[in-house]
Amino acid sequence: MKIASFRVDHNKLEKGVYVSRRDGDTVTLDLRMAKPYVDPLLDNSTLHSLEHTLATALRNGKRGANVVYCGPMGCQTGFYCVFFGLNDAEIFDCVRDTFRFLATQSYPMPGAARAECGNALNLSLDKAVAAAKAYYALIEDKTEFDKYPE
Ligand SMILES: [Zn+2]
Repeated sequence: MKIASFRVDHNKLEKGVYVSRRDGDTVTLDLRMAKPYVDPLLDNSTLHSLEHTLATALRNGKRGANVVYCGPMGCQTGFYCVFFGLNDAEIFDCVRDTFRFLATQSYPMPGAARAECGNALNLSLDKAVAAAKAYYALIEDKTEFDKYPE
């Protein structure tokens, strides 16, 4: 069976913030940061660096107890974030507030010691901040999730 995320036409998919799937009280978001086949891919260092800062900011934020997982897509065009126990408005606000923090505040790279990460040499705070700024600029004026193309 073709899983749901393969049924989205990625030729038509724009950058944005989408609900990838709902499983009961659990919501998986598609944080699409690059338009597939058009924009440059997020390089591995950018993905890895943003993974550290995004996961840390989400888990230390006010909705941290509702964050199940956040990690990069293998296709290098975005992130999946999984939440539970929140309504859509709460999730959307959490994402926007988290990226506002990552784009506008100063912070060190979390988990940057070799004991804390499997490849701590491959981290760049500058890349993480640049990616967060680009995505925040995309979502800061939105108030709800985007809709997948028909
Ligand atoms: Zn790491």
